[in-house]
Amino acid sequence: MNDYGLSIWGDGNFKIESGKICINSDSTPAIIDIVKDIRNQGYRGPLLLRFPHLIKKQISQIYTSFNKAKKEFGYEGKFNAVYPLKVNQYPGFVKNIVRLGKPYNYGLEAGSKAELLLAMAHNNDGAPITVNGFKDKELINIGFIAAEMGHNITLTIEGLGELEAIISTAKERFAPKPNIGLRIRLHSAGSGIWAKSGGIHSKFGLTATELIEAINLLKKAGLIEQFTMIHFHIGSQITEIQPLKKALVEAGNIYAELRKMGAVNLKAINLGGGLAIEYSQFKEVVNRNYTLNEYANDVVYLLKTIATQKSEPEPDIFIESGRFVSASHAVLIAPVLELFSQEYSEDKLNLKKKNPQLITELVDLHANIKPSNAMEYLHDALHHLESVLTLFDLGYVDLQDRSNAEVLVYLVGKKALAMLGSKANSYELLKIQKQVQERYLINFSMFQSLPDFWGLKQNFPIMPLDKLNEPATLAASLWDITCDSDGEIAYNADTNPLFLHDVDLEKEEYFLGFFLVGAYQEVLGMKHNLFTHPTEATIEITESGYEIAHLLESQSILDIMEDLDYDIYEIQDTLNERLEKSTLINETQKKQILGELYLFLNDNSYLKTIQ
Ligand SMILES: *Cc1c(COP(=O)(O)O)cnc(C)c1O
Repeated sequence: MNDYGLSIWGDGNFKIESGKICINSDSTPAIIDIVKDIRNQGYRGPLLLRFPHLIKKQISQIYTSFNKAKKEFGYEGKFNAVYPLKVNQYPGFVKNIVRLGKPYNYGLEAGSKAELLLAMAHNNDGAPITVNGFKDKELINIGFIAAEMGHNITLTIEGLGELEAIISTAKERFAPKPNIGLRIRLHSAGSGIWAKSGGIHSKFGLTATELIEAINLLKKAGLIEQFTMIHFHIGSQITEIQPLKKALVEAGNIYAELRKMGAVNLKAINLGGGLAIEYSQFKEVVNRNYTLNEYANDVVYLLKTIATQKSEPEPDIFIESGRFVSASHAVLIAPVLELFSQEYSEDKLNLKKKNPQLITELVDLHANIKPSNAMEYLHDALHHLESVLTLFDLGYVDLQDRSNAEVLVYLVGKKALAMLGSKANSYELLKIQKQVQERYLINFSMFQSLPDFWGLKQNFPIMPLDKLNEPATLAASLWDITCDSDGEIAYNADTNPLFLHDVDLEKEEYFLGFFLVGAYQEVLGMKHNLFTHPTEATIEITESGYEIAHLLESQSILDIMEDLDYDIYEIQDTLNERLEKSTLINETQKKQILGELYLFLNDNSYLKTIQ
């Protein structure tokens, strides 16, 4: 049975029971039951489910792997981790990560003034805060305030200009000072579609010459003791371990050199983020070649080796992985609204008393197709369709004939696929499936909920929430409800051979889950067509099932307009005035319309047709 690649991307988080995808816990609640529970409370449209137990699992795995590696190699440096806020700043996530990270002293990373202030308000007492990205004097000032408030904060500078601003700020501020980090520019770079942050031409970091100058500036300003950390980040979703190893060797040597130059308190190397997760649901396109344990072992072993070679203390290790911690916790659920080729059902056939020869042959193919001839009949049917379309262009067959041919070919294709399903790996068959693919209209916005698919062609695992014990026979392309033709996840025999079920939506509901959407998708999501962040629910898994811990409805249309800086009172007044002025309707009708407008404005934009 098709498990939609769960064994590749699922990481043991889910399992299939009685045809439904369930949370892999003692109580194994089915996701579809959770979804129906929430929808029964009146919520429609797409739904983002958050699972805090999966955040907890990721945090715990990181600390466990590194602590194990430290023990194995007898490593003396400490291990620390911070969560980079840019990956997901939604309170439904951040509050959970801070709460669940407390036992580990898990900290936060900030890349802007807003994120830094958020970190200062939410971070656990004593847990580290690191600050990266370009800084002005104001941001540096906020960093000093954090230190003055008692936060354990390191400001990592990206260039010498920032260091000069820190030196001048230090003269103006009070006694407690932030630690200073230097971002180093490595000549090694990462791999994969996000690998832009490393390398000699990267946007960030100090060159060897600038590092020497920075040390001299720090010494002269009497701030060398504040310099505690070097930092690098070779890119997100590092798919291969090799570039990281190269970067570590380079960074380890820079660490040792800087210490020998008098950086007496330099004691930490911050590896940035980049730990990859497996997004692929098809074995042909698996994209990560290492495990977390391997990553931790490599880091600890390499840093130990360099420290020993150079007779320097083993550095404390900091990591800032965000994607790894957050991706799995969120699942987007979207209802299927329509199957477009249901227009090709058998009752749409309208055969004439006398049909063109090709149509008669198609009727025969449809009636006599069987497993032993399915492939051949399918080929014939597709060939006939080409001929009918040519005849139509030349004026030899009419629109009714063309409609009959389209319906018949579709029906032959569908039968053939059902018969040949188990051999669905044959390349040729996959190509044909593309031609008879089904187009599913999904109640969600790709731009809002899967922006990385739109921008970077990053695939996410997709699967139906139930019917998993029934064969899925339709090659599926997914359309979102924006009016943008980019809002499509196309069936692709090589990279995205997704098959879904043949369902009659008049009789039953059908939901798709989009998994691993907890990293970057929410914050990068855009309000294309004014579709907003979907309704979200936090689900706590309990011994007997689950609890809906928190439910936040999608923003209303008025809220979105307000976010765009429209005067919402003016909008409402204008609508009312225009209604008042209309001479086409009477007073009672106006009253009813007024009420309707009020309801629409205070609801969200997602579609409500049946689903
Ligand atoms: C983006 C970023 C991270 C997080 O990267 P992930 O790939 O999500 O782990 C960490 N550190 C810095 C400096 C970053 O810019």
